[in-house]
Amino acid sequence: MDVQSLRDNFEILSQTIYNKPLIYFDNAATSQKPNLVLDTIREFETKWNANVHRGVHFLSNYCTDAVEKSRKTIAHFIGANSEREVVFTSGTTDSVNIIADTFGRSFLKPGDEILVSQMEHHSNFVPWQQIAHRHGAKFVVFDILDNGEVDLDDYKRKLNSKTRMVAFAHVSNALGTVNPIEQMIALARKFDTAIFVDGAQAIQHIKVNVQELDVDFYAFSGHKMYGPTGVGILYGKEAWLEKLPPYRFGGEMIEKVANDITTFNELPFKFEAGTPNYTAQIGLGKAVEYIETVGISNMCSHETELLEYATRRLKEMDGITIYGTSSHKTSVLSFLVDGIHPYDIGIMLDKMGIAVRTGNHCAQPLFTRLGIDGTVRASFAFYNTTEEIDFFIESLQKIISMFR
Ligand code: PLP
Repeated sequence: MDVQSLRDNFEILSQTIYNKPLIYFDNAATSQKPNLVLDTIREFETKWNANVHRGVHFLSNYCTDAVEKSRKTIAHFIGANSEREVVFTSGTTDSVNIIADTFGRSFLKPGDEILVSQMEHHSNFVPWQQIAHRHGAKFVVFDILDNGEVDLDDYKRKLNSKTRMVAFAHVSNALGTVNPIEQMIALARKFDTAIFVDGAQAIQHIKVNVQELDVDFYAFSGHKMYGPTGVGILYGKEAWLEKLPPYRFGGEMIEKVANDITTFNELPFKFEAGTPNYTAQIGLGKAVEYIETVGISNMCSHETELLEYATRRLKEMDGITIYGTSSHKTSVLSFLVDGIHPYDIGIMLDKMGIAVRTGNHCAQPLFTRLGIDGTVRASFAFYNTTEEIDFFIESLQKIISMFR
């Protein structure tokens, strides 16, 4: 993989911040978009814009064809059985809320249990907690190990005949841990429970096949996989999506409406009420095409090299603690420097043109468990380089010597 020439696909990477070349290490928060995606959006908005699934006229049909082509590309990318199983949402958060709400209304009763992991992003934690409370179900959290892996013994202990839903991340956004989801799904299959996997941090790093995983629901966001913001995917097994009621009501999700009764559209439109962000939906299909052209395994092997290199360089420094030390990780490096607040590190790195994230990364229960308030998080994408890591380490050394 020729990283330098791939970087040319991302105009934003060649700009300067405070007169320093931008080093973008905040890819887990949001990734950058290649020209293919940006050009598609611009071309669509300037030449073809019209509402989707509505008109008989040329432009509207163009939009409908482009959106459905994009859905097909995404269905193929994740190994869905059909496009009926691929619902466009506004992102992972929206996808979790759709299932938490509709599953709760249809299947949860007092005494049932929902099981989630201690490492979840708030998006895959709070909706389940609130839905459990609403329906009198018990919200159960299984633990992690100190290295940031899930505690499989605790998971096994807490799975039981009352468990109705298990929800966990494929990859932790805060620590980068890749969870053994094949094993976790197989363990859950011994019980009468549905399984929801948050793939927001996995889909851009790992080849996902939802049918091979045998997962009931899988969610991800466009903006973390080189696609547009405001769009995401909810994959659901057709049998599950058929059983669940609509989440929002309005145009597009209906079949027939009369004064006294409404019947609902077929899948996946039953879950797609109102005018969606169709431009972003089309852009997401292009982002998937881009990933497939570069090759997800090429991306992943370069990202692993970056992670290993940065981890080694950080470990050579004094007073650094790395959080998330599993041997199964994506390219996320979360750390603290003794005696220096992560926020101060983030602010100083920014002045050197380096974008990292600091804080609890929307995972407060995880950080409470780890006994810290947050970390500095550098998250790498395939377009990052070892030279950027060298500059990052040098800058960090300067910051530490200034503070000390
Ligand atoms: N789940 C994980 C693991 C995430 O990292 C994120 C975003 O950081 C989300 C869910 C929420 O994604 P979005 O804000 O795109 O809905």
